[in-house]
Amino acid sequence: MKIKVLGCYGGEVPGKYISGFLLGEDTLVDAGTIGLNLELKAQRKLRNILISHPHLDHICALPFLGGNVLSNKSESLKIVGAKFSLEAIKKYIMNGTVWPDFTKIKNQAGAPVFSYMPISYLKWVTIGKYKIKAIPVNHTVPTNGYLIGEGDSYMLYSGDTKTTEAIWQEGKKLGTKLKAIFVETSFPNERADLADKTGHLTPAVLEAQLKKIGDKAKPKIFIYHIKPEYQQQVEKELKKIKGFDLTLVKQGNTYTI
Ligand SMILES: [Zn+2]
Ligand SMILES: [Zn+2]
Repeated sequence: MKIKVLGCYGGEVPGKYISGFLLGEDTLVDAGTIGLNLELKAQRKLRNILISHPHLDHICALPFLGGNVLSNKSESLKIVGAKFSLEAIKKYIMNGTVWPDFTKIKNQAGAPVFSYMPISYLKWVTIGKYKIKAIPVNHTVPTNGYLIGEGDSYMLYSGDTKTTEAIWQEGKKLGTKLKAIFVETSFPNERADLADKTGHLTPAVLEAQLKKIGDKAKPKIFIYHIKPEYQQQVEKELKKIKGFDLTLVKQGNTYTI
């Protein structure tokens, strides 16, 4: 599986963009960043977008994508997620007031530009060439991470979360097929209170989460969603975590698992 990092930060400053990950050529995981890091031709190849939750830093590139794929001669681009996330996007963002409702605008093949595909928690579904399972995590609004598989390789994507259980247990069940974990870490340890209130991880709490996977799988750990103002401090604290193969996600990089 190939994962290209379009954006990976928990806030925006010049050159640092918010969460968006491209799987292969046609699937996105979260949509904080699309057009800032993906050429028009590549945007037009997108077919499925998995959303973890409707916070703006995970969906805000969707409206502009809609306006860039009007000439697609293809079926609708599917926005995939829990009902709560899709309803929020429909009601508050692409509602015909803040932005056009792209499920009512046709592309050049006559299909709606976007369609919404609600999925249930804890059930495997096939989306394009990927096997997907949405698993609820613990944030300030209903949020889910994903297990995503291609062939025999699986990755776990945490979404925004603080300490949580189900996704770690589901990841552990995959055993050695679990090759990578993309997990958020937003705040340094000294802001543990704020992290807990806002539903995010600190390096210390991350370490406790990673131990829940057990020692059989040994996946690579990729850290994203660091708040730019705390980046140095968080990175310093992450370096102290021992016993895991830990990488700070680099924007623009493509990782193969
Ligand atoms: Zn969030
Ligand atoms: Zn976020």
